[in-house]
Amino acid sequence: MGMYTDKRKITHTHDGFELLTHESGHLEYDFSWHLGKYWSRFLAELRDNKRFMATKCPECGMVFIPPRQVCGRCYKVMEEWVEVGPEGELKGFTVVRFPYIDANHGGLKQVPFTSIWVTLDGADTRMIHFCNEHDEHKLEVGMRMRPVWAENRTGSIHDVEYFEVIR
Ligand SMILES: [Zn+2]
Repeated sequence: MGMYTDKRKITHTHDGFELLTHESGHLEYDFSWHLGKYWSRFLAELRDNKRFMATKCPECGMVFIPPRQVCGRCYKVMEEWVEVGPEGELKGFTVVRFPYIDANHGGLKQVPFTSIWVTLDGADTRMIHFCNEHDEHKLEVGMRMRPVWAENRTGSIHDVEYFEVIR
């Protein structure tokens, strides 16, 4: 202890809820891991070309995004890449109003925010992301969505800032 500052010493939410903690030691370190061939290509395509690349099963034809190496249905290795989206359909959403610790920076996540399930055109799977609409009365499953790209893209899922409704 002492050489690090715990940035997560938050005791109350903005609207007064008390957040309890239990001490179980202190550990802080930098770490990284290899994303592998499939996620590396997926994220590099977002960063460099602002496009969504998915993998397609040679057996059943199912298109997966985010891409994965093995089809969850047939257990076949997938080596065919197909572009999907960038637009898609809203499949579900949750408007979150209770803040919790954001693992990206250790502070409280700004609320409200909206988590969504979106199926990009040409894909058979849903992708989880964010939407800039926080009024649940203005969202409806089946709405058309499009990505809003971050200006400075780094090869992260956050290279898509959020999805917005196409009105
Ligand atoms: Zn398959």
